[in-house]
Amino acid sequence: MKDRTLLMIPGPIEFEPEVLSALGAPTASHVDPEFIEAFGKSLERMREVWLSPAGQPFVIAGSGTLAMDIPAANLIEPGDNALVLSTGYFGDRYAEILARYGAKVTTVSAEPGGMVDFDRIEAELKKGSFKLLTFTHVDTSTAVRVEPETIGKLGKKYGVLTILDGVCSVAGEEIRQDEWGIDVVLTASQKAVGVPPGLALLVAGTKAIETWKSRKTPVLNYYGDWKNWLPIMEAYESRKPSYFATPPVNLIFALNVSLGHIISEGMAARFARHKKIGQACHAAIQALGLDMVPKDIRFAASTLSAPRYPNGVNGPDLLPKIKSAGVVLAGGLHSAIKNEYFRIGHMGAIKAGDVLAAVGAIEIGLSACGYQFEKGAGVAAAQRIFLS
Ligand code: PMP
Repeated sequence: MKDRTLLMIPGPIEFEPEVLSALGAPTASHVDPEFIEAFGKSLERMREVWLSPAGQPFVIAGSGTLAMDIPAANLIEPGDNALVLSTGYFGDRYAEILARYGAKVTTVSAEPGGMVDFDRIEAELKKGSFKLLTFTHVDTSTAVRVEPETIGKLGKKYGVLTILDGVCSVAGEEIRQDEWGIDVVLTASQKAVGVPPGLALLVAGTKAIETWKSRKTPVLNYYGDWKNWLPIMEAYESRKPSYFATPPVNLIFALNVSLGHIISEGMAARFARHKKIGQACHAAIQALGLDMVPKDIRFAASTLSAPRYPNGVNGPDLLPKIKSAGVVLAGGLHSAIKNEYFRIGHMGAIKAGDVLAAVGAIEIGLSACGYQFEKGAGVAAAQRIFLS
């Protein structure tokens, strides 16, 4: 039998065949008219996917960490105050990045699986000295989702720039960048955007760009400096050739294809599909008698789930058994609870059948580990959501 598996980790995800063919096509020149058109179109399409008609999109070769690094490099000047809302591993990473550019960082952290304390955040903001705040929409290490609308309002109220790390949420969870007043929304290609790893993607609002333009000190990162990239993005969008650093031609062709798929699905329909898939996964996990890392279902993400291992079951035993049943899942990531849970990614072009396959494989794995549960209960619970 062919060694075929279904990849359901929280990125990279399964990609659409048409996206993969764009990647495998002969590479064009970066000044070829067809490539210029694909790049320009991708930038326009990003505005639609981000729901940010007024924003400035950037497409730069790199991973999600570069997409976090770039706004930090461009907006922070040494000595600025930054507030980090941390709901896990990636929130903590943002604090490190900001500190590297000389920011004085205050971090408001949640316990693993918990929500950040909004009273404490507001109390910090009232002190009045923060230039920006960052938050992780869905922290991939905990599957906790923070509501961007609330943060956007707080940012506006206190005149603080807001940066949303949407690496595990953009094009899956609902984000309305302009309406909700989020100044920068960033992601990477390999998650719900549906393109293999290699692209750092972000949209910066007018206030972020103005803040960068009024800097008094140079940007301390040569590659990431918007001074190098803004003219490139503007040139491609007006369908003119340009060069600062060689763009990843095939990945950008693939991005244009995937963004086209996302837009033809429609953003409202896409958010609703992810929500339903999330609900189906959560229902299955509960029906199997497993706890989840998020302490409250109301802030459990729609793009990934983080079930805790039941007593007597551990990752090195369970995950290979699930893989033998055909589905690749991920282990834990948050250092405080790393060995206590596993992660199921369910974003992008995922369908109900993929979720049912994953839950079925989890049941096979749990059963082979000797865990006692009502056989078929997880699959039935997920199916009930899909049929409702
Ligand atoms: N932020 C979040 C929320 C993520 O999930 C990830 C990747 N898992 C990153 C940032 C970093 O992205 P990358 O691994 O592509 O550098």
